[in-house]
Amino acid sequence: MGIKVVKFGGSSLADANQFKKVKNIITSDMERRYVVPSAPGKRFSDDIKVTDMLYKCYEIASKDEDFSEIFEKICHRYNEIIAELSLDLSLEDEYKKMWTDFKNHMGRDYAASRGEYLNGIILAKYLGYKFIDAAKVIHFDEKGNYDDEKTMEYMAKYLSDTDRAVIPGFYGITPNDTIKTFSRGGSDITGSIVAKAVMADIYENWTDVSGFLMADPRIVKDPKPIKYITYAELRELSYMGATVLHEDAIFPVRTSGIPINIRNTNEPSAPGTMIVAGGEGANDYVITGIAGKKGFCSVTLEKDMMNNEVGFGRRVLQVFENHNICFEHIPSGIDTMGVVVRQEDLEKNKESIYKDIQAKVNPDSISLVKDMSLIAVVGKGMVSQIGTASMVFKAISDKGINIRMIDQGSCELNIIIGVDEKDFDTAMNAIYDAFVK
Ligand code: ASP
Repeated sequence: MGIKVVKFGGSSLADANQFKKVKNIITSDMERRYVVPSAPGKRFSDDIKVTDMLYKCYEIASKDEDFSEIFEKICHRYNEIIAELSLDLSLEDEYKKMWTDFKNHMGRDYAASRGEYLNGIILAKYLGYKFIDAAKVIHFDEKGNYDDEKTMEYMAKYLSDTDRAVIPGFYGITPNDTIKTFSRGGSDITGSIVAKAVMADIYENWTDVSGFLMADPRIVKDPKPIKYITYAELRELSYMGATVLHEDAIFPVRTSGIPINIRNTNEPSAPGTMIVAGGEGANDYVITGIAGKKGFCSVTLEKDMMNNEVGFGRRVLQVFENHNICFEHIPSGIDTMGVVVRQEDLEKNKESIYKDIQAKVNPDSISLVKDMSLIAVVGKGMVSQIGTASMVFKAISDKGINIRMIDQGSCELNIIIGVDEKDFDTAMNAIYDAFVK
């Protein structure tokens, strides 16, 4: 029998009704053997995620103020699920321990981790699966970095004779027995780690959308779903703002070539998106997706004979490094060079950056292109297709939009263009229409 690791996000486990859907999904396929739950998420748009309630509660507790009201609300969320599922389970002892631990300032990460911990206990009971505390199997080192070697060792120890288990997402333990969490949304990473550990055939990540869409639905109306996407394409799209899966969740499975399937708990019959190494499956369009972000600017330098000045680029970038600023792109001409950075990073230290650039490379002029948005058109198929770039540019110029910057990634996986923020939505739609309609 194959092995599937299934991770369910917060909205998939927000209340008893969602738990029922989750159980149906799991029991409909016997290969779904290892389950990673998030904490209960939002039940309706104004609702508060349990994780956020826990952070709030701990903040109050750490000031030694009365945190009972919010603490009770948290317990109530779980008790309601237990009651509605008619489970023979009481978490009262767990709540008592949590209460004392909060009073004793056990740590913010510890507090947040209780969301998935308690949800895991309930889900394990409901499914009749073994519960394995993530603090037993997910390890971090003294510096707080995830320790894969130790984790794999403990996973093997705990899971080798357990063919069905629930392992809560989001947290693990450090060598001095302190609970530590991944960054927000980190249950996705736990799922990926478990998939690697049990050498799963597939890592199914169940959420509330039917996979990745070719563009942000807040900008492009009814974008088509992406059937297949490679890990590399996904990196490009997530970096530029597509947020269905935690950015770091691909690393554990990527090395083992385990595909990730993004699925929708509320629409289990939809195939969702398959995230693969490459080669498998085909999409219907030349491009895989479009994503973009606002808030960039380009610092443009001009200097006669710049191209002959060895080390010019390095010295310019050194100035940004000294100010702890990452650059996004460096489009350049013979005697010009632009450095694209986040506008808010530049604004904070603009005067001293300009002064340092002046001192280091003495340019003839420095100018600034502000309020720029970057749009990434991503697709591995673009490499072999003549004319993709011209389609992108034509789509934009037909709308009378001026392109401020162009950059093609060196592996031809993407074309990045910069346009004024005010033109962002129009440009996104124009590109989408050119390729999809
Ligand atoms: N519950 C955590 C969060 O809200 C982790 C997760 O859901 O993945 O960020």
